[in-house]
Amino acid sequence: MNENKRDRARTIASTQPGSVAGLIMVSAVIFYAAGLALRGSAEFDFWVDGVIALLCVWLPTGVAWMAVLRTRLRRYDILSAAAGVTSLAIADTYYVVKTGEGQDVPLGSPADIFYLLSYVLILASLIFVVVWRFRAVAWPVVLDSTVGTLGAGAVLVVVLDPFLKPAFDGVFTFDAALAAAYPLLDLLLLAAVIGIVVTPGRPPGGGWLALIVGLLVFTGADIVYAMLELEGLYVVGTPLDAAWAAGTALITVWIVMQGFEEQFRRGTEKGLLARTVPTQTVPALATVASLTVLVLGTQRPISFLAVVLASLTLALAALPLVFRHRVRIAAVHLQAMTDELTGLPNRRALYSTVPVRLVVDAQRISAVLLLDLDKFKEVNDSLGHDVGDRLLKQVADRLRAQLRAEDFLARMGGDEFVIHLNGCGDSESEAVAMKLRAALAEPYDLGSVTVQVNASIGMAHYPAQGNDLTTLLRKADMAMYKAKTTRSGHGTYCDEGLQATKYHTLESLNSALLNDQLVVHFQPQIDLRSGKVRGVEALVRWDHPTEGILAPPLFLKRFDEAGLMSPLTSVVLGKALDQSVVWKEQGRVLTVAVNVCSGSIIDSSLPDQIAAMTTVRGLDPSVLVIEITEDLLMGDRDRARTVLTRLRTMGVRIAVDDFGKGYSSLAYLRELPIDELKLDKSFVMSMSHDAKAAALVVSTIGLAHSLGLEMTAEGVESSTIYEALGESGCDLAQGFYMSRPVPAKEFDTWLTTYTPLPIEPTPSQAI
Ligand code: C2E
Ligand code: CA
Ligand code: CA
Repeated sequence: MNENKRDRARTIASTQPGSVAGLIMVSAVIFYAAGLALRGSAEFDFWVDGVIALLCVWLPTGVAWMAVLRTRLRRYDILSAAAGVTSLAIADTYYVVKTGEGQDVPLGSPADIFYLLSYVLILASLIFVVVWRFRAVAWPVVLDSTVGTLGAGAVLVVVLDPFLKPAFDGVFTFDAALAAAYPLLDLLLLAAVIGIVVTPGRPPGGGWLALIVGLLVFTGADIVYAMLELEGLYVVGTPLDAAWAAGTALITVWIVMQGFEEQFRRGTEKGLLARTVPTQTVPALATVASLTVLVLGTQRPISFLAVVLASLTLALAALPLVFRHRVRIAAVHLQAMTDELTGLPNRRALYSTVPVRLVVDAQRISAVLLLDLDKFKEVNDSLGHDVGDRLLKQVADRLRAQLRAEDFLARMGGDEFVIHLNGCGDSESEAVAMKLRAALAEPYDLGSVTVQVNASIGMAHYPAQGNDLTTLLRKADMAMYKAKTTRSGHGTYCDEGLQATKYHTLESLNSALLNDQLVVHFQPQIDLRSGKVRGVEALVRWDHPTEGILAPPLFLKRFDEAGLMSPLTSVVLGKALDQSVVWKEQGRVLTVAVNVCSGSIIDSSLPDQIAAMTTVRGLDPSVLVIEITEDLLMGDRDRARTVLTRLRTMGVRIAVDDFGKGYSSLAYLRELPIDELKLDKSFVMSMSHDAKAAALVVSTIGLAHSLGLEMTAEGVESSTIYEALGESGCDLAQGFYMSRPVPAKEFDTWLTTYTPLPIEPTPSQAI
């Protein structure tokens, strides 16, 4: 509202000088006209023919340059037009001075050079306008405008023929050509202006009307001048001179108004883009007009120029029609092959493209990947289709970003995507699948919420598993289904009997454990009240021999599937506690949290194992925090309770990880021995832009505190969230804002430079 008012005030403020300048110019012209009408003798009148006449050209020149300055020299169209008016003023000045000195100025004098230059400059200005304005429009529009220009030219030449004729009169002397050149140049400008004005997409501003009228006035005056001058009858000081002055003033009005149009440029371009398919009106009108001109030509003689222009119009008018037809066909074709939501090729494109790729590259192996999002339906149902659509778009973008230009990616429909990878065998396509899943596993910011979605990928290979797309898709689908049900994430179709570790996965998993390829990174947990580092969370990484450091989402499920979770947990526990010893020796008091999966929690040997591990290292079990996830508690809760209770009695703290992410009941909070809730990062990350998420965070803090539990917020990525959490009474914070998970060495360096930032809860929130 205020913005609007301010905008309007600004527009009015900037329009005012324009109107004032216009008023002064008009007054000068009227004054001049009156002077010319009233003066008696044919002698050169110093005031009227000298001072006022020059004022009538230099005043617009000044106004035009003011417009140039207003646009800070950034608008070449205005600059060029102002130069054009200046050139006109210079020519007039030469003319007036010479005449004042009593000399006759013949055709072809220096004045003519400047007059002609002014046409060139104004034409250049129009070209700038065209380039600027037409950059955003399609080719057919440019053609339409050209046709409009030529058609208008043809008509103007015919209409003005009676006036032009006497000027030529069949004699082609230099003088005649020069004298006739002026009205013809006026017509050229006029036609160009009409071409611009009739271009679809924007309503022409008032400035253009001024320019058209101004050019018409010039045309009229130049025709009369040509007739008089060729007869040797032209004298300075007739009302004809006022006509040029008026024309100049009108052209200047256009220049000034163009300057103001800059503000509307954005809107204009949008309008143009919205209407890139041009209307038929302009070429149709131009065609009719040109036909009329030619038909007229059969009845009575018309000028050669009119015939040329009319014929050109007709020839070109046909061109945009052909052109447009082609463009349309291509557009329709593209539309039918494109998925509207993501802009990716659609199912139809898939079935027409991939078979061709298979035939063309028949000698090369290739892979078909079928990718399906896990739990997409839940997102769609619980958060709405808008959010679901946004998610699909981002998924499409991420997939696109991961693939090579030669790969083919299509959306099959729903949350299914198909990828065809040329030249990819088993290991290559598996690497791609892992890369894609890792890229998709990152959280999605969907405006109101942040969600995390995983994908399952099934793969089938050409020619090993099929020669045609249908077969390959069917097998990829089966592999995808298997990957989904086993939660392995991705897998390749295997013919029966070949089922065993085709990718040596089991082997590579074993080698990870045996060859000490698992490493642990540490991420600090900050006590919000004191700002001090309370402890760390140990997060496993796989330092893979060929793929580098892999994040847990890329391999944990595989370990789980292979029944190797318990050994993994042992490795992580061992490494985490080893690091604890180092810190203890350094005199640092830090707890270390380890993630333990469901399988290990119901393993009744876990407490003994942990007791042994801590005793051996001379550590108190209270340095350890065990993180469990709520969905895992839903299984064998009795066993879990027994194991957890024993751990807790030893002094190990128990934290519930990813709290709020699952769909479990809250009953276990009462039944199980728990010390801490770790609120899932999706809520924390959305806090700053989602009021509901923020409210959930605050009420969960209340819930935790009322149950006597501590609350940790994960996914703290900014100081704003860090402070908001502290003020809400949250106990601990963990997130990229403080530090990413890093190797122990890096963590130690971080710790030495860390400055605590304590936050006191605001009284109303301290629960
Ligand atoms: P988690 O237990 O919820 O661990 C926190 C995850 O959030 C880590 O991902 C960490 O890098 C990430 N994270 C921390 N702060 C931020 C933040 O500010 N913003 C964002 N976007 N993310 C943040 P990571 O290390 O990839 O681990 C993923 C999951 O893998 C863990 O989630 C955990 O469930 C599992 N995991 C990791 N290590 C182990 C392990 O040793 N054993 C078991 N069983 N699971 C593990
Ligand atoms: Ca965790
Ligand atoms: Ca978590």
